[in-house]
Amino acid sequence: MNRNPIIILLFILLISTTGVNAQQIIAHRGYWKTEGSAQNSIAALMKADSIAVFGSEVDIWLSSDGVPVVNHDATVMLNGEKITVEETPLSTLRQVKLSNGETLPTVEEYLDAFTACNRTRLIIEFKTHSGKEREEELVRKVIKMVHERGLQEKVEYIAFGIHFVLLVRQLDPQAAVYYLNGDLSPGVLSAMGAAGSDYHYNVIYRRPEWVQAAHDLGQKVNVWTVNRPEDIGKMINLKVDFITTDEPLLVKEILQQQ
Ligand code: MG
Repeated sequence: MNRNPIIILLFILLISTTGVNAQQIIAHRGYWKTEGSAQNSIAALMKADSIAVFGSEVDIWLSSDGVPVVNHDATVMLNGEKITVEETPLSTLRQVKLSNGETLPTVEEYLDAFTACNRTRLIIEFKTHSGKEREEELVRKVIKMVHERGLQEKVEYIAFGIHFVLLVRQLDPQAAVYYLNGDLSPGVLSAMGAAGSDYHYNVIYRRPEWVQAAHDLGQKVNVWTVNRPEDIGKMINLKVDFITTDEPLLVKEILQQQ
């Protein structure tokens, strides 16, 4: 076979510069540490896309009247009063303003905005609710919304509950779903059909061998929320696949120095 040596050389150069083990960055709650942004805002999603990170993470809940909404905490402040997201109807939640002035977004709005993103993926975290039925309703509704918009190739899921992982596997077998709770080995996660782990970085400090074990099983390793330069460097050296961070530009810079 007549293989062009220049093409082969270019290919080798490409591999060596991009690095086979190069880590990918996931902006935790979007890219929010920048002007005009706020955690879990639509602006944070668009800003994550603008800096071309691998993924933008977002946390979601079900309102009391069954509408998927975006928020991290179980509660939000409205007119000086703490209200519980899953016990509050959408009409009330819509009065909540994020720190950048945005109205607390619905998941539909978030996904509509995401259709305009062409660089970042969306990493959706299903929050743990007071009952499994409501959690199941949330997962069913969101997977349907993702499919209706043809976004399934660009969306991944994460959750602390094993039942969430199993439910996503059942409803959308092609979807990548990662487990957050830090207590299951790569072998168990692989048997469950998870795409991999998404653990606090302290878990990987304690069990660094889980990275290789995961890779041997074709699994990926994500770590959160890695913000300090020394931890970012150590996670890179431990060859995790994804770094979830509040400091996406800092991680980018450290990766470029490696
Ligand atoms: Mg989260």
